[in-house]
This record gives sequence, structure tokens and C-alpha cells, in this order.
Amino acid sequence: MLRPMSSWDRRTPKQLAARRVAAVRAQVVDAVGPFSPYWRERLLSLGRTPAQAGTLAGLAALPAAGERDVCPDGNPAGAGSLVLQAGERDFALHAEGPTLRRALRARLVSKGSYRAVVEADTRPTSYVWAGLGLRFPVASTRSDLDVVARAGARLWQVLGLTRADVLVAALPLSPTAALQALQYAALGAGSPALFPGAEPDQVAAALALVPATVLALDPPNAAVLLDDLDEAGAPLSAVATVLLVGAPTEDERADVAEALARSGARAAVVLAVHAPDGHRLLWGECRQGAGGEQGLHTYPDLELVALVDPETGEPATGKPVSRPAVGSGLYEVVLTQLGLRGSALLRWRTGDLADRLEEARCPACSRTVPRVVGTRRGALVPALALRTGHRRVDLRSVSGALVGRADVADWRVLVGPSARDGADELLVHVAPTAGADAGDVAVAVTRDLRVAAGLLPTQVLVVGTEELPAGAGWLSRRVLSRGRPG
Ligand SMILES: [Zn+2]
Repeated sequence: MLRPMSSWDRRTPKQLAARRVAAVRAQVVDAVGPFSPYWRERLLSLGRTPAQAGTLAGLAALPAAGERDVCPDGNPAGAGSLVLQAGERDFALHAEGPTLRRALRARLVSKGSYRAVVEADTRPTSYVWAGLGLRFPVASTRSDLDVVARAGARLWQVLGLTRADVLVAALPLSPTAALQALQYAALGAGSPALFPGAEPDQVAAALALVPATVLALDPPNAAVLLDDLDEAGAPLSAVATVLLVGAPTEDERADVAEALARSGARAAVVLAVHAPDGHRLLWGECRQGAGGEQGLHTYPDLELVALVDPETGEPATGKPVSRPAVGSGLYEVVLTQLGLRGSALLRWRTGDLADRLEEARCPACSRTVPRVVGTRRGALVPALALRTGHRRVDLRSVSGALVGRADVADWRVLVGPSARDGADELLVHVAPTAGADAGDVAVAVTRDLRVAAGLLPTQVLVVGTEELPAGAGWLSRRVLSRGRPG
């Protein structure tokens, strides 16, 4: 069993800052800057050196980037350029001191064992699928998987689980970061774990053989599966913890609570865990704060989490809003991985929205780790059932085509089901600047949306500023939802 560092979650801001300075430098200056083709190119085009970007301030000033920036033409092959490409020759340049010393010692004994140490740190050996509008593989090295397991052992602490707990994960068996992280978490924490897939028969059969104390569920299907298991007579009475994997919505939580109350596991504590898209670590809610108000607990020495304006990717300014009012909005979660080396992410736009980032001590568990509160998974790339077909629409690209235009004074995007036939629509309302021709604006906006987002909106409506729509479901300052997406 990997021993978690006892103090990782109790560090003072000063202790943490010192670690972060060193970790950011090692990640950006020694590894990602020189060896990731994408980030090397991006830093060059921004006119910054890895040394400039490799400080806390330098990193925070780096414009956030997401899948559409890495794959601008929509071809997922572009994501390959995120992967660090360091050979044996480059290893000495970026390996951390203890790893390098171990490798050099090994080289004295045999060339083969030197290569084994180098490859553990540089060679991608494991892939999971990521992507919201696209689908691309995310690579991990063996040393990355050590980090995933170590973070997993910490997750068990946050969730209030021990090695005595037994996990049955009723999740689809697709290679996702969340599934992999859960497997490594159980391994890192020393808990037996079984992954029978999400079919009710298979889950019921597993529960009949394994005395599960923890049941992991896929939020959209969790309540129905609980009812199915109950009907099948699956033994649920030992289940003390239900993990909802993927930040659940309030409706999903409520449905699960009702299904649990009808089942044999009515005393179970429900906790959310979530790996943002592209990331490889699972964040979790603390057991003491079950219910979701304290947010997802992150790992401050393994990642930097920030919030940005989802329309521009610029750092979030102003006071955080817990309940966005008209014209305000939610923030996009952006993250930088520290110490993960395969597909390395700097200031990565996850597509998740959140109410706020809490840096203060958690009132429930008193951990001093940043917490992401009010997460809405993938809300910026909703799956829409448009009349032209089902697809995920990257609202960041749609906003990108509208922000800062000389011919548009203000705009709103409205997504969601139409009252007429229930099909989803993507309506773009634009108020032209004085003197701009309405017809020209409509044509130019349509053309630019097609280039930036790879789709045609359902309709572009040219209106006066006072006619721009307002509504309750704000996804960002100018993107509204008719309810279902997000
Ligand atoms: Zn807590």
C-alpha cells in the first residue's frame, strides 16, 4: 500500500506556496516547456520562455487553452502534441533529483535498469479517453500512475473510507480517467474492488459474491440501477457509502436519495467524486460535509485550480456569485497538473462550470485544500438534440466567434428545447453596433460561427439591445439555457 503523506491536506498557505513554486518550476521549466510539442509551440507564439511561464504569476498569466485550441480543425489527432516527448538523453534535464540519482545509480549496474527508470518517467504506457466535443486519448507514464494511486489513497481519506472498505463499481467499462482513477484509488488505499460493469444483472451477481460497503454509480443512471438492484434482491444492507462518479446535478442527487430510501441501503452516505475532462485525478467530497455544499476537495500540491470567464477564457474577476443573477454567470474550471507527465495540461479549460473556488479551510473536515463548489460537469459543451442531428456543441467556440466583434454591440446565445417540437435549438441573438447593416451582420456572424464552432446555429436573430433575451438558466454572462443542458 502506498503511504499517503500525512500532512498533504493540512498545510498552511505558506508551506503550500513553497511547494507549489518548486512544483510549477519542475513541471513547466524542466518538463512541459521543453518536451511537449504543443506547449513549446504555444509559449513560443505567446513570446514567453518556459522560465517566464514557470512561476506562479507567470503561469496565472498564461491564457487558458482547451481541446478546441489543441485541435482547432476538430481533428483529435492534434491532442497527441500534448504528450511529453523526452528520450533517454533528455531525461537528465527534467527528472527530479531523487529519480535522477536512482537512475544514475542503476546505470552503474546495468544499462537496462537505467532505461527502466527513464521509461517509468517518460514513456506513455496507459491511455484513457477524454474530450467533450472531440474524443482523444490522454496518456500516462508509469510514474503518472503512481501519482494517480497516491492521489487515490488521499481520496479514500477525504471520503472517510479505509482499507476495510470493499468497492463495487457499477460503472460502464469504458476507459475513462474516472474509472482508471477509481481502480488506482482502491489499489493505493488497499481496498478490494470489483468492476462488473453497469448491467444490473452483473452488478447484482457481484454484490451477491462480494460484501460491498461502497457502491460507485453513474449519476444519470444511478437511481434506476438502485431500483433494479433492489428488485433483483441484491444485498445492499452493508453499503455504507454511495459514490456518484461525475459531479451529479441536484436532480440526480435527489433521485438517488429517494431510490436509496426505498432500498436496503437507506443509511448510506452519498458522496460525489469527479475527474474533470482531461484530468486524471478524482476529486471528492469530504464525508463530514456530505450533501455537496463544501465542494470537491482538490490536491493542492498536485494541481493548480483556477476559474475563468467561460466566454473569453480570461481570469475570473469580481466577486464570486453563488446564484448567478441576470447578466452574471458561472465560471469555467481551469487546471494545471503538477507532476503528471504523459499528456501534460497547463491552464486547461475543462468545460466544467462552477459557482466558486473556496480556498479557506473546509468548515466540515478542516482540510486546507481548495474546493470547487457547485460543479456542473461539461456544461459548456452540452449534448444537443438539434433538428439537424444529435451533437455536442462547444459553447466556448460559439462565444469566441461573438466576443469583441466590431459589428456587434451585444449578444446572447440561447440553447435548449423549443416549445414547438421539443428539439434543441441554438439561437444566436445579436444587437448590431450603430450604423452596421443588419443583413451584413447576420451573414458575417453565421460565417464566423461556422469557422469557429464547426456548425450552423439554428437561427441568427438581429435585434435591438433592449430585445435581447433574458432568462433564469444562465451558463455564462451571455449564454442562456432553457433548462435541460448543463
Ligand atoms: Zn471538507
